[in-house]
Amino acid sequence: LTRHLKKPELFSNLAGVPEGDLQSLPKFAVFDPATGDVLAELPDMGIPQVALAIDRAHAAQAQWAALTARQRSDLLWEWHRLILQHSEDLASILTAEMGKPFTEAKSEVAHAAAYLQWYAEEANRIYGETISAPSVDRRMIVIKQPVGVVGAITPWNFPASMIARKISPALAAGCAVVVKPAEQTPLVAGAMFALARMAGFPSGVLNLIYASEGASVGYELCTNPKVRKISFTGSTEVGRLLMRQCSDQIKRVSFELGGNAPFIVFDDADVDAAVDGALQAKFRNAGQTCVSANRLYVQSGVFTEFAEKFTARVGELRVGNGFDPGVSIGPLIDTRALAKMQSHIADAIEKGAVVRCGGEPVSADGTFFQPTVITEVTRDMRLAQEETFGPLAPIIRFEDADQVVAEANDTIYGLAAYFYASNLKRVWHVAEALEYGMVGINTGRMSSEAAPFGGMKQSGIGREGSRHGLEDYLEMKYLCMGGL
Ligand code: ADP
Repeated sequence: LTRHLKKPELFSNLAGVPEGDLQSLPKFAVFDPATGDVLAELPDMGIPQVALAIDRAHAAQAQWAALTARQRSDLLWEWHRLILQHSEDLASILTAEMGKPFTEAKSEVAHAAAYLQWYAEEANRIYGETISAPSVDRRMIVIKQPVGVVGAITPWNFPASMIARKISPALAAGCAVVVKPAEQTPLVAGAMFALARMAGFPSGVLNLIYASEGASVGYELCTNPKVRKISFTGSTEVGRLLMRQCSDQIKRVSFELGGNAPFIVFDDADVDAAVDGALQAKFRNAGQTCVSANRLYVQSGVFTEFAEKFTARVGELRVGNGFDPGVSIGPLIDTRALAKMQSHIADAIEKGAVVRCGGEPVSADGTFFQPTVITEVTRDMRLAQEETFGPLAPIIRFEDADQVVAEANDTIYGLAAYFYASNLKRVWHVAEALEYGMVGINTGRMSSEAAPFGGMKQSGIGREGSRHGLEDYLEMKYLCMGGL
């Protein structure tokens, strides 16, 4: 790991900014959240460097779009091969800068590679259409073309797979990209871009911006007319701001924003399976995923059994440095995340909730937090309304199936929902009634490169993954031939 972080060529000049200019910029540090150690110091790029990267992408755009789909596909395959070849190193960098357990980091890198594979295949499946014309002297045809230069902004919780999920369909469609990773986790992005350079992508097609904050980079990406589309994953709050900034130029947007996922266990559920699913949906990545179960609703007939079994399993989860074997919960990303956990728990206790296990930071320093289960939860508590984004599982007892669906839908968010039931009629009824872009039925994990990932309501616009993810980077053009 140290060997790789010290390789300057890995992290330099990935956006065409002259080396001399980079040297003169102020630097920002990237920390290991488990130890507080500084892992690297990177040049803090601002608006001039972003503008330069956009120019570079714009200059590369037409030639990139003019390649055959097969040529773009071959490059994506090569990048995929290199990512798999270096997956241990990438996972090490990821655990170091983000904190997640090494096994989860390895599975994230595999997931990132899977997106490259999927879109290397999909690149060859871009189809238009011919339409039966209403008059004999006409022919009507639809062709698909890349939207143009794409600006992508990604979060820290999945620093490798979020980038792959955005870039691979964009590249497959024929778009050049300018990417700004989260300031907490730019190193795995740098390593992935270095591998892309080795794969042989033409100069200017991929550009990486290192910056200590998102606002100025985001502003330039949204307002520079050479950028045709913004793809963003992050908070709903920042999504709203980006949408406003994009509105002057009616810029295309794809957003994957916050969630408030319900996880519902009905009386007819397989309780042991539901406990397994809830552990995955709640505690993967220490609860720091936008599809993390945020509210567990359990029907009264199985409430006691579920709460006891689930709490026992949560008590067995080991918290620690992601590199230590057997650890399933790493540190939270920063002290702000820790403070949010604490304030949600304090608010719930004040309003009558009972802590079944956990409830405290592991120690006075650092950002490790005990996995926590809370019962006697009511809807006026903050943890039932807001996304906690941490290892906190509030369990809410319910009686009525229709009412629980209404309550689950009573939020501005609509990203992921989960439920466990066995009655087929109920399964269909609830699946169709939930106002969420993704519904896990008898499973706590559903993310896949083959499926459309995305949200309804204020959880986002557009979908990533599957063939639909490619459409988001293509414009439709109608050709009408007359006088035939
Ligand atoms: P989180 O709270 O999970 O960090 P954010 O939405 O704040 O979520 O961050 C996600 C990404 O958005 C990061 O890359 C961050 O740098 C970027 N970002 C934050 N604020 C802005 C902004 N005002 N404009 C553009 N990007 C931003």
